[in-house]
Order: sequence, then structure tokens, then C-alpha cells
Amino acid sequence: MTLRRIVVVGNGIAGLTACDSLRAAGFDGELTVVGAERHSPYSRPALSKALLHGSGGLAAHGLPEPTHGADELLGVSATGLDAGARVVTLDGGGSLPYDGLVIASGSRARRLGGGPQEEGNGHDSSRELTLRTLEDAVQLKELVAARPSVIVVGGGPLGMEVASGCLHNGCDVTLVTDGEPLVRQLGGYLSGIFASAARRQGLRIVNGPKARLCSGSTSGSTPGVALPDGTVLEADLVVSAIGDEPNTGWLEGSGLLTGGVLRVDSRGRVRPDIVAAGDVAFFPTQRGLTRVPLWTSAIDQAKAAAVGLLLGDIAPALELQPYFWTEAFGLSLKSVGYTPVEGAPGFREQGSDDDSALLRWEHADGSGTAAALNYRIPVPKLRRLANTGSKAVRPPQPVTA
Ligand SMILES: Cc1cc2nc3c(=O)[nH]c(=O)nc-3n(C[C@H](O)[C@H](O)[C@H](O)COP(=O)(O)OP(=O)(O)OC[C@H]3O[C@@H](n4cnc5c(N)ncnc54)[C@H](O)[C@@H]3O)c2cc1C
Repeated sequence: MTLRRIVVVGNGIAGLTACDSLRAAGFDGELTVVGAERHSPYSRPALSKALLHGSGGLAAHGLPEPTHGADELLGVSATGLDAGARVVTLDGGGSLPYDGLVIASGSRARRLGGGPQEEGNGHDSSRELTLRTLEDAVQLKELVAARPSVIVVGGGPLGMEVASGCLHNGCDVTLVTDGEPLVRQLGGYLSGIFASAARRQGLRIVNGPKARLCSGSTSGSTPGVALPDGTVLEADLVVSAIGDEPNTGWLEGSGLLTGGVLRVDSRGRVRPDIVAAGDVAFFPTQRGLTRVPLWTSAIDQAKAAAVGLLLGDIAPALELQPYFWTEAFGLSLKSVGYTPVEGAPGFREQGSDDDSALLRWEHADGSGTAAALNYRIPVPKLRRLANTGSKAVRPPQPVTA
């Protein structure tokens, strides 16, 4: 079928990349992007890094103006999909017919208090803050400026970045985490380095599985976090960073969800006329069918999905090699390849100071993960280190007799 009208739902990095990739692949028909946020796409990773640490304005999140020429319906949400009739329904009562659809509706922050903020479930957001949108970042930055005491729940990269930002701003910060921070995402070796740096800088780390939001004991208006052993921690602010949930509510009833999740094939296809990309989609990887809710994964998926929608079976399949970065407690980490990594690295090259190193782990299947910790290296070279081992960074030594 000739595609004359393509609708993209979601105006984050996956939606933006899908629009750009459709144009780059030659699609010159009608392109419409529907985005619940009122902004053009921006850098979400910057929200927890530059925006919390930076002393200047809020420019760090900006991305170049889109050039794909799509009609942008901003501040508009898709509320339903009739996949048989090929129509997306919108809040406010409108509808958009399509020949091809890109689902790029991303994900939202999970909340300790339960339930998504967007669906207005009566959750009291004044007691629990999350960080997903630009508005969340602006609110958090304003509150943190008064140096409140802060409890951050969640020891993943986002929780560690928020804790680091709050500490940097002079707050008293407690991190409540189920196990050592970052261990589930990065493995024990890298987790140990980050946790030591965090403790040295004054972060209090409390091991608290199954933490719950509650009222503080000193005042009903003070937020608290209850732990299973009966301990109640109190602070001026509670920020939860306990993961994300795909935005699939608008797809309920569409027949596209399997067990509540949106699955795509290696070309991003849910079916021939519908593709999906980014945080919303489960897709086939070397580690099975999973989501990889990372920035460059959203970009790579969206490129593959756009071409998958236009070309079908002859489009190249996505072979994702994850790329991830984080910055917290004076440490900057870039990694290429799957994490967590087990044990100590097989390759380690010391950088210019104690905290700086280039590292590589080899996995049982022969693939590798490379990481640069406070170490300046171009990403393509880090990728070569992951894929080909130390010869990518160390020239072969002459053999001496
Ligand atoms: C604070 C923070 C820091 C991060 N740091 C890093 C990092 O350092 N490195 C890294 O790799 N990743 C990081 N990530 C993850 C990364 O930002 C995401 O993986 C990426 O933004 C996903 O892009 P996406 O386009 O799939 O989804 P999103 O960015 O969630 O965009 C989806 C868009 O769709 C909109 N939408 C949702 N439902 C509808 C609907 N029904 N109708 C219309 N529009 C809808 C949403 O409002 C949103 O604008 C971070 C995430 C956060 C929140």
C-alpha cells in the first residue's frame, strides 16, 4: 500500500527521530506528530544533570529546531486507536486518519504513591516528586534552591543523579535503595565506585526494600518514607526515582497489546502499517524481548522503525548495542554494550587520576562491554573497545627476541 499520510504519536526523541528518518528515507507525504507536551522535543537526560547541577538558565535541555516539516499538534494527546479503521482519536474530540502509524508515546515515572500522575488519580504530588518532564525539573530546581532535606527513593542512575544534584545544591540527602545503588544496572564493580564517591561526599544511603510513602511523625504535612522494619524517615521533600511505565493507556482496546505490553519485531513493526519505538516498546535484543529505556536506544529504534514502516521486510533489522551514560558525585561514566557487568573488568587502563579508567568486560557469549570512567574517549573508539578488545586502544607491541 502507498503511504500518503503518516501519524506519529509522541513528540519525544523517538517521535522526532522517526519523523527525521521518514523524511531521510524519502517519505514526502503528509506527516503529523501529536505530542502531549507543549514543547518541541528536548533532551530528557539533561534534566537530571545540567538542570540540577547547572547554575545558569534552563538552556541545557534544548535540541535543534525540527526540520522534518511535520504538522505538530503540541499539547494534544492521543486517547484511542481504531487499528481496523486506521484512525487515532484525540483529546478534545478530534481524530486523525492514517495510512501508517508510529507509536512513540514513551513512558512516565512510576510513583511510590501508585498510579500515573497524568491520569489524575487523586495522587498528592506535593508529597512525592518525580523527574520526567521539563516542568518536573523546573519545580525540583526551584524547591532545591531553598536547601530542603531530601529523601530520594531509588538507587538507579536517575536516583543517583538527583541525589548528587541535591547534595551539590547544599541539601541534606538520604538515598533509600533496595540493595547497593546502581548494582542492578551496572554490576558490583562500578556500583562500588559510585557508592564510595557518594558516601565520601556526604550521601546517607539507607537500604530499604519495599519503601512506602507515608506522613512524617512530626507533622501530618511532612512527607515520610516507611520501611518494612517500621522505620519512618522524614524530610522536606521526597523524590522518587523508581523506574518508568510505558504510556500504553491510549492503546487499550486497540488489540495491539499482548499481556498489557506493546511488542514489536526487529524492524519495529507491530503490524505492517504500525511501528513503535522508544521507551514504549518491547523489542527483540540479544537479552530477549525487552524494553531498553535509554536515549540512544530510542534513537536507534526509531530509525529502524521508520524504515521498517516504509520498506517492510527488506528494511534492515535493528541490532542494538546499548550505549549509556551517567554523571553523579563527580564521576562521569559512558558505557557501550550490555550491563550489568559481572566481577572486575578483564581490561583496565588507568587514566590521569585515581578515579579515571578505561575498562572492558568480556561476556560468556564473546561479546564485550566497554566503559570510560572520567576518561575522555570518542564513543566510536569506546565501541571498538567493546567489540574488538584492547587492540582498539593499545597498538600491538613489537615482539622482542
Ligand atoms: C531525568 C531523566 C534522565 C535520563 N537520563 C538518561 C541518560 O543519562 N542516558 C540515557 O541513555 N537515558 C536517559 N534517560 C532516558 C531517556 O531520556 C529516555 O529513554 C528517552 O527520552 C525515551 O524517549 P521516547 O521518545 O521513547 O519517550 P519520551 O521521552 O517519554 O517521549 C514520549 C513523548 O510522548 C508523549 N506522549 C505520551 N503519551 C501520549 C499520547 N497519548 N499522545 C500524545 N503524546 C503522548 C509524552 O508526553 C512525551 O513527550 C533519562 C530519562 C529521564 C526522565
